[in-house]
Amino acid sequence: MANAWNQLPLDVLEVDLGSGVRAGFSNRAGGTSLGAHSALNLGYHVDDDWDRAHANRGLLGRWLGAPLTMTTQVHGAEVAEVSAYRPNMRRRADALVSTTPGVGIGVMVADCVPVLLSDPGAGVVATAHAGRPGLVAGVVGNAVTAMTERGARAESIRAVLGPSICGRCYEVPEQLREDVEAAVPGTATRTSWGTPAIDIATGVVSQLHELGLTQVDRVDACTYEHERYFSYRRDGVTGRFAGVIALAG
Ligand SMILES: [Zn+2]
Repeated sequence: MANAWNQLPLDVLEVDLGSGVRAGFSNRAGGTSLGAHSALNLGYHVDDDWDRAHANRGLLGRWLGAPLTMTTQVHGAEVAEVSAYRPNMRRRADALVSTTPGVGIGVMVADCVPVLLSDPGAGVVATAHAGRPGLVAGVVGNAVTAMTERGARAESIRAVLGPSICGRCYEVPEQLREDVEAAVPGTATRTSWGTPAIDIATGVVSQLHELGLTQVDRVDACTYEHERYFSYRRDGVTGRFAGVIALAG
């Protein structure tokens, strides 16, 4: 049944980030990849067939209405500006910002939190890849700063967090939980089986609120619990889904 995802149509969850902005989150359905990467794997770095992953990016870009540029993500906090389509951007960056209509940007994940941001009035969109290291390193704040440097205002920015591993599933050692809690208060929690855990998405939401954002939404779906999403923690060898956003061209 591993390839049943190939039989399904593309199933992108569209999210409302304002007039003139198209945005959504993909899942496994509708792509060309096989086996552990079935079917809409978007990562070039996860031992999938490169041509299949590239074809999948094309499918998602067609849904978005804009060809899709993504970077090499390294769990850091750097922001890259994207002003034109780059089919294989090798720059290392975990946040992207764009002010160019018709240019799609995306963030790949398989448990980490994909964050999409827009200020539709200012014509600025951004993505951020917030796993545990990125959360602590401040990738979300850097993405918002990159937006305000380009004319966005915090009170006008809309944010949506996509599917990620939830606090009831993301087990970590006790010391790590304490370290992250010290850096981002409110993240310490317990798994459903009673062991130390971290709630990354709650940490992202509190960082966004501290930055002055008031329009923050969240897709309440756990990648670890739902097979429709790739989950690195659950499957090890797996693909990547994505949050994608573009200003209408
Ligand atoms: Zn969960």
